[in-house]
Amino acid sequence: MRFGALELVPLVDGRFRLDGGAMFGVVPKPLWERKAPADERNRIRLAMRPLLVRGDRTLLVDAGIGDKMEPKAVEIYAIDRQVSLADSLAAEGLREADIDLVLASHLHFDHAGGFTRRDERGGLVPVFPRARYLARAGEYDDATHPHERNRASYLADNYVPLHDAGVLDFHEGNVEVMRGVRVVRTGGHTMHHQIVYLESEGRTAVFAADLIPTTAHVDSAWVMGYDLYPMDTFTFKRAFIREAIDQEYLIFFEHDPEVAAGYIREAAGRRFVEPVVRD
Ligand SMILES: [Zn+2]
Repeated sequence: MRFGALELVPLVDGRFRLDGGAMFGVVPKPLWERKAPADERNRIRLAMRPLLVRGDRTLLVDAGIGDKMEPKAVEIYAIDRQVSLADSLAAEGLREADIDLVLASHLHFDHAGGFTRRDERGGLVPVFPRARYLARAGEYDDATHPHERNRASYLADNYVPLHDAGVLDFHEGNVEVMRGVRVVRTGGHTMHHQIVYLESEGRTAVFAADLIPTTAHVDSAWVMGYDLYPMDTFTFKRAFIREAIDQEYLIFFEHDPEVAAGYIREAAGRRFVEPVVRD
């Protein structure tokens, strides 16, 4: 998709399922189930959609879950990578070596899993051999010092090998990482979770990561149970959604099972998403 001087391409690294209750926090099941039907194990369908940004450099935002998950986790999360990130890049005529920059919204395994892979000797290496990887310093600090509440989400194999290989750069603050691409810390989901503003020729798109993981999460109070600081999510999201509606931001939904991007609209006090890219 052309977006001013940038090209924005939602990719996919397969599909998975997570507990519906955990995805919708305090929202009662009869309400969320209408938007996201649960399977016999109470799981809902989700996708992983890293974003490719082509401008004066070639940037990837997040990289999906990758191929290192244990068989038990593949079963628990119903991970289906029949279409992987590599396939999705190939469909755009790109190889892993064509990526210049890889940016992390945060370091949970369903976002950073595709940053590394095992080589023939069992060592862990960067998937994108020419790329510099970028993460928020505080996020890396939290990810390397997990506690009981976030330990299941932070898997060191996904990011410590990048640091060891000398390809991981840290940033603090809301910086421009490439022309037209700016990160903004939201907190909430994790203390240093960030979203990505894509701005060109007067238009704005936002990769919302886990601030608004699916189109079912466009109500400010529909906050994930997974979030470490749910009131921070709520406060940020309430203001952000107002801004997104008023200024017609194109929003990329990283985990929606069908809609990769769309506009948040409001009619008669109700909010909904007008899809722009779906599969
Ligand atoms: Zn996620």
